[in-house]
Amino acid sequence: MNILVINCGSSSLKFQVIDSATEALLAKGLCERIGIDGSVITYENIVKNSGKEVNETPMPDHNKAVSLVLEALTNEKTGVLKSLDEIGAVGHRIVHGGEKFTTSVVITDEVIEAIKEVSDLAPLHNPANLIGVDACKALMPNTPMVAVFDTAFHQTMPEKAYMYALPMDYYNKYKVRRYGFHGTSHSFVSKAMAEVAGKPYDSIKTIVCHLGNGASISAVCNGKCVDTSMGLTPLEGLIMGTRSGDIDPAIIEFIAGKENQTAAEVVSVLNKKSGVFALSNGKSSDFRDLEEGYVAGDKFCKLAIDAFCYRVAKYVGAYAAAMNGVDYIAFTAGIGENSGFVRANVMQYLGYLGIKLDEEANKGRGKVIKISTDDSTVQAYVIPTNEELAIARETAALC
Ligand code: ADP
Repeated sequence: MNILVINCGSSSLKFQVIDSATEALLAKGLCERIGIDGSVITYENIVKNSGKEVNETPMPDHNKAVSLVLEALTNEKTGVLKSLDEIGAVGHRIVHGGEKFTTSVVITDEVIEAIKEVSDLAPLHNPANLIGVDACKALMPNTPMVAVFDTAFHQTMPEKAYMYALPMDYYNKYKVRRYGFHGTSHSFVSKAMAEVAGKPYDSIKTIVCHLGNGASISAVCNGKCVDTSMGLTPLEGLIMGTRSGDIDPAIIEFIAGKENQTAAEVVSVLNKKSGVFALSNGKSSDFRDLEEGYVAGDKFCKLAIDAFCYRVAKYVGAYAAAMNGVDYIAFTAGIGENSGFVRANVMQYLGYLGIKLDEEANKGRGKVIKISTDDSTVQAYVIPTNEELAIARETAALC
C-alpha cells in the first residue's frame, strides 16, 4: 500500500510517499512559505531519480499546498502515481497527544476534537498539524488517515519520571508533566538498535541520543521508554541549536526584571536565541560551522561543542543509573549520524561504562556503524533515524 506521510507546520509541509510493502521511498518534497509571498514547492520523484524540481507558485493556504502536492504526485510527467486512488492511507505527524494518546490512531472526528483539546500544550504545533489533516480530508475524503504522535512513545514513563515536583494542582488542573518529544524517532531507533544487535527488543537497555537541531535523549528499558529529556515542551533537557535545555527556572524572572521583558519574551529567547547559537557567541547553530570554528581555534565554538557534549554525557550517566545499567548507546539525527567529532567528544566521558571508541569506525557517517571496539562492555552505534518510514509503518499497521 502507498502511504502519503505528511508533516505539516504553520508555514511548511513536508511529504513523502512510501510503499509500505517494500518500504521504498517513491517521492518526497516540501512546500515552504505557505500563506506568505514567494511560496515554493520542491518535489523529487525518487523512482525516476529525477532530481529536485523547484517551483515558485502561490500557496495562499494549506489546501492549495496539499492540492499542489497531489498534483505533482499524479502528474503525467513527474508523478509516481496514476491517480489518487493509489494512495492507500495518509499518515500525519502530530506533535502533542497529551495523556490521551499512547499509540497512533485512525483519525476520526472524535480524534480531531481530542487533538484540539490538548492543543494548549503545543499551541504552535498541533493547530498547524490539524490544518494538514483538514486539507487532506477535503481533497481525499475517502482515504483513511492516521495520527502518529511525537509524545506517544514516552507515555510508558513511570510517574516518578514524568511528574515535576510542583503543586499537584498544576498536574490535576493543567496536566503539567513531562511528555517528551521525538518519540517516533526514539521508538524507531531503539527498535532498529535491537535488530542490529540481533537481540529481542524487550531484553535490552538502550540509551538513544537524538542529536539534531532539536535534541533529546531517552532511556528505553526492555522495549519501553522509562525516561526522556524533553518535558512539557521541547525546551527542557539537552543544549540544542537555539534552545537552552535545562536551566535554573529562576533565571526567567531575574532576566525579565533586568531587561524589562515579560516571561513570554524571556522564554522566547530560551527557545530561539540560546543553545549552541548563544554559547558560540552568535556564530551559528549549525554544527558544521561550529566544528570548523573549533578546529580553527575559536574559543566560543569550542565552548559550545564542549558544553553540548558534556550535557549529553551527563544524561547518559543519569539514564544508565535510571535503568541500573545500559547495553547499547545509539547516536542518531543530523549531528548524531554525521558528526564523528561530537560522538568522540561525548564518548570520552563514557570510559567508566566500559565503552572504548573505535576511532576508525567513528569516521563513518549516515549509516549503521558500530563505533565502539569489540571488547567494550557497552556498545555504541550510529543508527540513522527515519521518522517518515516510522509514520508509514504505523499508518499501514492501522489501515
Ligand atoms: P532537525 O530535524 O531538528 O531540524 P536534524 O536532525 O536535521 O535537525 O539535524 C540538523 C543538524 O545536523 C544541523 O543543524 C547540523 O548542525 C547537523 N549536521 C548535519 N550534517 C552534519 C555534518 N556533516 N556534520 C556535523 N553536523 C551536521
